[in-house]
Amino acid sequence: MNTRKLQQVIRSIPTSDGAGVKLRRSLGQAPGLRLDPFLMLDEFSSENADDYIAGFPDHPHRGFETVTYMLDGHMLHEDHLGNRGDLRSGGAQWMTAGRGIIHSEIPQQQSGRMRGFQLWINLPAREKMKPAAYRDVQPEEIPLVAIAGGGEVRVIAGVLVTEGDGEQRVRGPIRGISTEPLFLDVRLPAGARFTNPLPVGHNAFVYPYEGRVSVGAAAEERELAAHHAGVLSGGEQVDVRAEGGAAAFLLLAARPLHEPVVQYGPFVMNSREEIEQAILDYQHGRLV
Ligand code: FE
Repeated sequence: MNTRKLQQVIRSIPTSDGAGVKLRRSLGQAPGLRLDPFLMLDEFSSENADDYIAGFPDHPHRGFETVTYMLDGHMLHEDHLGNRGDLRSGGAQWMTAGRGIIHSEIPQQQSGRMRGFQLWINLPAREKMKPAAYRDVQPEEIPLVAIAGGGEVRVIAGVLVTEGDGEQRVRGPIRGISTEPLFLDVRLPAGARFTNPLPVGHNAFVYPYEGRVSVGAAAEERELAAHHAGVLSGGEQVDVRAEGGAAAFLLLAARPLHEPVVQYGPFVMNSREEIEQAILDYQHGRLV
C-alpha cells in the first residue's frame, strides 16, 4: 500500500476570536493555508477562565459546516432555530450553517480546564444555501475503539478500520455529509503505531495536540510537533507513530471540492457577489 507522507507543516499561531477566547489557529490563518474542503482548525486550551469565559456571543455563519469537539469543559450552544446543545467533555456538535445560522457558544464553567477544537468544513456550491441543521453528539455516541499496540481511537465521523481477529470497521455517528469526512481522535502510548486506509483522492492532515508523532512509512518518516497541522501527500493509507512518549492527535480527511473559495469572516461562498449578498442578507435580517 502506498503510504502518505508528511508534505507540509502549517504551524499554529496564537489568536483570539468571539468575545476574546484565546486560540491557536493552524489551517485558515491565511487564505493560502487551507486544505480543501477544510477551511480552518482552531484549538482552544486553557486552565485560565479569563482566556475563555466570554465565549462566542451571537454571530452568523453561511456556506459551510462548523464542528466543535470538546476534550475538557462545558459549553452551551443556542441558535435561532431553537436548538440548545449541551456540549460536554468528549462530546461534539456538527452544525451545517447552509444559508444561514445565528448562534452563540457560552462556557458553562467559571474555572478549570477548557480544551477542544473547532473545525470548519466547506460545503459544495449546490449545498451552500440549504437550510441550516444542527446535530449534538453526546460522548456516549462516539465509539471508543482499542487498537493493537495499546492505543485508542474515538470515531467522530467516517470509518476506522482495525485489524486484529479479522478486519473490523467502526463507523462514527456523523453520516450523510457529501464531503465524506473522516474525523478521528487517536491516543497512542510511547512508540505505538496507528494505520488506517484513506480514500486516495481525499485530502488529509494530522494535528497532534499532546506529545509528538512521526508520520509516514518507516523509511520516509517525518516528525511533527504538537499544535501544528501536518498536511499529507496522496496515498492509500496513513501511518502515524507516537514519538518520544505518549501522543494524541486528530486525523482529518475529506473529499476536496475544487471550487473557488471566497471568505469574509463567517461567510464562505464561491464568489464576491455571493459574499456581498450574505452581508446584505445579514444586515437586513434575511440571513436565516
Ligand atoms: Fe460559530
